[in-house]
Amino acid sequence: MIPNCQWCDEPVLSTEPHAPFTTATLHWECGLRSVVGGLNHLNGTCTCCGGTRPPDPEGTTRRRAAQMAAQAWVARHPEQNNKQ
Ligand SMILES: [Zn+2]
Ligand SMILES: [Zn+2]
Repeated sequence: MIPNCQWCDEPVLSTEPHAPFTTATLHWECGLRSVVGGLNHLNGTCTCCGGTRPPDPEGTTRRRAAQMAAQAWVARHPEQNNKQ
């Protein structure tokens, strides 16, 4: 049985990177998203940053939003890229 990610509720396949810093069942991107915040939050446009948007982009899945946030975060923290 394939466990579902606790963030996006999609299966975490054994071929996909698993979040390294937790024992919870999480995709790597979802684990990072849960720590660093959504794409709009990273861009400073969400309500908690004084903007008007939700922390994650509208009109996408939780999984996809996490991947977008992880991608944006890694782009700003290139030194973290080697750890995969
Ligand atoms: Zn996930
Ligand atoms: Zn924010």
